[in-house]
Amino acid sequence: MTTASDELFAALEADLAERRAAHLYRRRPVVSTPQGPTVTVDGVTLSNFCSNDYLGLAAHPRIVAAAQAGAERWGVGSGASHLVCGHQAAHEACERKLAAFVGKPAALTLATGYLANLAVITALVGREDAVFADKLNHASLNDACLLSRATFKRYAHNDLAMLERQLADTPARRKLIAVDAVFSMDGDTAPLAALLALAERHDAWLFIDDAHGFGVLGDGRGSLAELGLASPRIIYMATLGKAAGVAGAFVAAEEIVIDYLINMARPYIYTTAAPALIADAVSASVDVIAQEAWRRERLQTHIATLREGLAAGGCMLMPSSTAIQPLQMPSSEAALALSAALRERGHWVAAIRPPTVPTPRLRLTLSAAHDAAQVQQLVEDVLALLPNVLRSLS
Ligand SMILES: *Cc1c(COP(=O)(O)O)cnc(C)c1O
Repeated sequence: MTTASDELFAALEADLAERRAAHLYRRRPVVSTPQGPTVTVDGVTLSNFCSNDYLGLAAHPRIVAAAQAGAERWGVGSGASHLVCGHQAAHEACERKLAAFVGKPAALTLATGYLANLAVITALVGREDAVFADKLNHASLNDACLLSRATFKRYAHNDLAMLERQLADTPARRKLIAVDAVFSMDGDTAPLAALLALAERHDAWLFIDDAHGFGVLGDGRGSLAELGLASPRIIYMATLGKAAGVAGAFVAAEEIVIDYLINMARPYIYTTAAPALIADAVSASVDVIAQEAWRRERLQTHIATLREGLAAGGCMLMPSSTAIQPLQMPSSEAALALSAALRERGHWVAAIRPPTVPTPRLRLTLSAAHDAAQVQQLVEDVLALLPNVLRSLS
């Protein structure tokens, strides 16, 4: 006898079977070490080339010590949302430090970057408004745009002419342009100066997600500092779980924008504050980011070694000058096969496939924590394995 619940489960199984057949099924590798240049995953020790810990701060002793001291001082739980009783002096100090570091009057910390994007976009635009977004923006920005109920216009990647037409054509009350400063799966950057000029011409907000620029670009202060850009209409967001090595995110903007978010942003209001020990760890991380410039220099050296080494062997990476260095693959199957072959040689490199990205690729990420020999070995093994993988699948 078939019961209704059998059909419910069969429908899930059919969808998963489809994913498996298309080489798109995912599982979660279990890591049994701290994050670092070498990790143990499913019992095997590998060089880690898929983390976003670009500066190698995820297990930095000073930041770990700040978290431990924070736990001693504040305990573990924050107890409530920021507007009830969860906003502690550690959050307040961390926000002031982040705002000063990126050169904005005020900042707001949130528990994750996903939440920060939902908070800003749903608070600032609604049904009568329009939001304009690059096609390659991060999924959390897309979800935020959908949730806002504003008219959601996507323009082709970095296509400013298309964006300008969309801005000129909209009857919307308020306009907001939302963009990744460094595109998370491609590693290339948005033309922020030109986007600001468009935002000014069409009186739009410019919301910049700098998840992959903060800590790395502009002496650690991020993509705006890198370009020397500033404007009250720019709302800046960066995450704190990537280069900063901790967790969470912050929004930096004019005082009134932050005040507006505190009052209007449901994803900020209706969630428990992150533990104060996280805020203390982030404050320590900002000091390390400011003081340890050698980490950014070493990362740049690794980027050059990887790009030049692969190019010399005839293997072209996608155009990127950041820590994200994608290698385009002809199919999801090929991406998986190269990832598996590299793993056999001790490298952990993620195969990124649709629907996360339009075209399959290996996403190689570099960190200041890698040593030169690790990067060199990766270059040699990619060059040795790639032709075999392509041949065996063609
Ligand atoms: C990782 C990421 C986010 C989400 O941040 P979390 O803190 O991981 O939730 C948002 N935007 C971009 C571009 C990202 O890469």
